[in-house]
Amino acid sequence: MRERLELQEQARQDLEANIEERTFELQVTLRELEEKNRELEQLNMEDALTKTKNRRYFDKKLLMDIRRSRREQTPLAIIMLDIDHFKAINDTYGHLTGDQTIQSAADVIKQHLKRPLDEVARYGGEEFVVLLPNTPLAGALEIAEQIRKAAENTDIIVAGTTIKFTLSAGVYSAIAEDINNPSLFTDYADKALYHAKQTGRNRVVSYPLPD
Ligand code: GH3
Ligand code: MG
Ligand code: MG
Repeated sequence: MRERLELQEQARQDLEANIEERTFELQVTLRELEEKNRELEQLNMEDALTKTKNRRYFDKKLLMDIRRSRREQTPLAIIMLDIDHFKAINDTYGHLTGDQTIQSAADVIKQHLKRPLDEVARYGGEEFVVLLPNTPLAGALEIAEQIRKAAENTDIIVAGTTIKFTLSAGVYSAIAEDINNPSLFTDYADKALYHAKQTGRNRVVSYPLPD
């Protein structure tokens, strides 16, 4: 009887030790998983909604393209695109339709990029940025205009209702001089985009601004 109790007690202690060990192992695994997730986030270069590159990737690509532009003395073109009156689309049809519009804009842009080094990234909520290495202003303006027209002619159909959207674009192209000032490209494209918004939207404007 006494022997049996002792055996039972021993078994209980073994089990407890086992559980403690497993719990510890689990905690270690969990911590490792958290770490891996953080690493993956760092590596993640894609925007989930549009399957275009994300802002983090864009910042790196811009730096590389600026270095290439300077090294090879070839013009780097940048196009900033922003959906017009997007807030109204969201407010009228809801966020799901808003998201669908963002996807549609991304698809339109992708369809017009032909060269392997051309790249589009989602820059912000309803804003995209395109980098076109070795492309002078005239060529970049042409592509921006093609994208603008295609967007204008795109129908988004939600539950039988056709929704339309337009894009405004700011374009800049130059041979990079200062590789330490990448924001010069985004700033000028953004200035042109702002001007496109100010002068009626659904249009393409280049920097230097027209007088
Ligand atoms: P403008 O013609 O001047 O560009 O006007 P706008 O309404 O497009 O611009 P504004 O900056 O006023 O509004 C953009 C809105 O986009 C604000 C925000 O509610 C919405 N938004 C941002 N990101 C997302 C997103 O991922 N999904 C959806 N559905 N809406 C978003
Ligand atoms: Mg907008
Ligand atoms: Mg915007």
